[in-house]
Amino acid sequence: MAVRTILTAPNPRLKKKAQPVAAVDAEVRQLMDDMLETMYDAPGIGLAAPQIGELRRVIVLDIDREELKTGPIVMANPEIIEASDEDATYEEGCLSVPEHYSDVARPAKVTVRYLDRDGAPREMACEGLLSTCVQHEIDHLDGILFIDHISSLKRNMILRKLLKTRKEKERDEAEGKPAAKPKPKEPAAAI
Ligand SMILES: [Zn+2]
Repeated sequence: MAVRTILTAPNPRLKKKAQPVAAVDAEVRQLMDDMLETMYDAPGIGLAAPQIGELRRVIVLDIDREELKTGPIVMANPEIIEASDEDATYEEGCLSVPEHYSDVARPAKVTVRYLDRDGAPREMACEGLLSTCVQHEIDHLDGILFIDHISSLKRNMILRKLLKTRKEKERDEAEGKPAAKPKPKEPAAAI
């Protein structure tokens, strides 16, 4: 297992559509393991393969809240096959959009079909934070970030700030200053 580098917006790779995996083989399982380790290290509660530059349809999740503890979940080729008409709004964050949070409305309940770590087809009914998280991660596979769900005014403001932070970080690195790891407002919110 290895902790991989998480790409941050604006990065063109985060806007690309990921390709389905042909089968869950040893290489895909290795990718799933690397993604889990990277997610725990960040720390976050979800991660999609494009966030580490792999344009494959693989996501991992682990929600550890008082009301819901899922343990590690890995999904290859996840697909939403059912969504409720009713929406739910959560304040979302993203490991690829560090230190920015925004309310996003999505279907409150979804059913997702996917291949598990053994390549077996499964379906999972999701609600609450799990539903938000699964939809957020599947969006990543289609090159969509949570900031694409908010107003362009707010999105552009966040992207400008991210670019500014990146430039400052690059300047500090060039000057030999130690890199400060960004502290998420609430670690569990970053997906
Ligand atoms: Zn994300």
